[in-house]
Amino acid sequence: MFEKILIANRGEIALRIHRACKEMGIKTVAIHSTADEEAMHVRLADESVCIGPASVEQSYLNIPAIISAATVTNADAIHPGYGFLSESENFAQIVEEHDFIFIGPKPKHIANMGDKISAKKMMIEAHIPVVPGSTEVIDNLEKAKNAAEEIGYPVIIKATSGGGGRGMKVVTRPEEMELAISIAQNEAETNFGNKSVYLEKYLKNPRHIEVQVLADNHGNAIHLYERDCSLQRKHQKVLEEAPAPSLSNDLREYIGNLCCSAAKDIGYRSAGTFEFLYENNKFYFIEMNTRVQVEHAITEMICSLDIVSEMINIAADIPLTYKQDQIVYEGHAIECRINAENPISFIPSPGRINEFHAPGGLGIRIDSALYTGYTVPPYYDSLVAKLVVHAKNRDDCIMRLKRALDEMVISGIETTIPLHQQIIESPTFISGDYDIHWLESFVFSKKS
Ligand code: ADP
Repeated sequence: MFEKILIANRGEIALRIHRACKEMGIKTVAIHSTADEEAMHVRLADESVCIGPASVEQSYLNIPAIISAATVTNADAIHPGYGFLSESENFAQIVEEHDFIFIGPKPKHIANMGDKISAKKMMIEAHIPVVPGSTEVIDNLEKAKNAAEEIGYPVIIKATSGGGGRGMKVVTRPEEMELAISIAQNEAETNFGNKSVYLEKYLKNPRHIEVQVLADNHGNAIHLYERDCSLQRKHQKVLEEAPAPSLSNDLREYIGNLCCSAAKDIGYRSAGTFEFLYENNKFYFIEMNTRVQVEHAITEMICSLDIVSEMINIAADIPLTYKQDQIVYEGHAIECRINAENPISFIPSPGRINEFHAPGGLGIRIDSALYTGYTVPPYYDSLVAKLVVHAKNRDDCIMRLKRALDEMVISGIETTIPLHQQIIESPTFISGDYDIHWLESFVFSKKS
C-alpha cells in the first residue's frame, strides 16, 4: 500500500480524499494556491505545498508544479479528485511517466471517454444502448441537416469534449440549424479548446440516471446501483438521490449488470459512472465519467462502502474485496449541493463565513471544507458543502433532510440552502415524479 498520497485538488473533495487516506494509514500532501493558504484541506494534511497564485491555470491546473510537489514530498501516488485535472489524459500520462501512481483509470480510457463520440462508439460495441445521434463530428451545415433529418427533430448539438453542461444547443427546425451550429462550435472552442460538435436526438422528458461501477486490474467489476440526478439547473446537478425513485428492481438489475459487463469488456479500471437518460422505461447512454463524482456520497450511504478507499486499493493493484452479491443497498439517500450563490439569481456569493453550524444526528453527513472565519475565495467552483442524508426509506429521508436543512447555518455569504428547502417541500419532488426540466421551471416560477 502507498505511504503517501498527494491530493491534486481543493475544497470538500480534497478533504474527502484526505479522510479516506487517514483511515487507511496513509499520509497526505495538500497542494494549494496562494488564495487557499487558510483552507481546511491545507490545515488537515500532513504536508502542504503552495503551487502557485490564485488563478487555476497557474495552480490547480499547473502540471509541472504539481509533479514537483509530488517529487519534493516523496509521494507515491496522486489522487486528482473531480474537476481540475481529473479527466486529463495528459496529466494521468505525465503522472505515470514520473513514476507516480495515478489514482484513476488508465489514460487511454480517460481519452476515449473524454471524446463523447468515441465513448458512444465504444458503448455500442459493448452493447450499451445509446441516444440516437451522429457517430461523426458535424463540421458543416449540410452534414448537420442530413444528420438531423435522419435522427428526427428536435435534436441537440453537443460538444465532443463537453462537460459541466456547457455548449449544448437544442434545434427544433432546420431553419435554426445554421445559427445553432456556429454558436455551439464557438462555445465549444471557448470552453474546451476544441470546436468539434455532434448531434443527438433531443429527448423531451427524460430522467438522468447514472450507474456507479468499480473495476480493478484483475478483471473484476461490480456496480453500486444507480443515482437519479434529474434535478438540474443549466444541465448541472443540484440535488441527487439513490436509488432512483422511478426504477423497477428488474430494470435496476438489468442496467447495473449491463454497465458492469461493459466495464469488463473495455478493460476499465477504478471508479467510473455510466450516465444515461431514461425515458419510457428505456435507457440511453450519454457519457461516462472517469473519476469520482460529486454525488458519490449517496451511493456510499446506501451501499455502506467507501468509494475513495476502493479507488486507492485498486490503484495499489489490490483486487476488489467485494463480489457483486455482497453489494446490497439499504434505504434511501439524498444529497443537496450547497453553493455559495444567491438562491434566486444564482450570482456567486464569495466572502467570509461568520458562522458555520453543521447539522448532526443519525443518517446525516456533511462533506464541506467550511469553518467559521473562513473566507470563500471568488476564484473557484461555488460548491461549499454537500449535505447528504440517509434514512430507511424515501419519505423518512425527505423528513430528515428537511430537519437537517433547517438546522444548518452558513452565515456571512448567501447560499442555496433556501432553494433546497423549497424543492423538498414541493409536491412534485415529494411524489418523485420529475424529469430533467422540472427544476428549471420550478426555479422560474419562484422568480416570477
Ligand atoms: P456534460 O458532460 O456537459 O455534463 P451530458 O452529456 O452529461 O453533458 O449532459 C448533461 C445534461 O444535459 C443531461 O443530464 C441532460 O439533462 C441534458 N442532455 C444531454 N443530452 C441530452 C439529450 N440528448 N436530450 C435531452 N437532454 C440532454
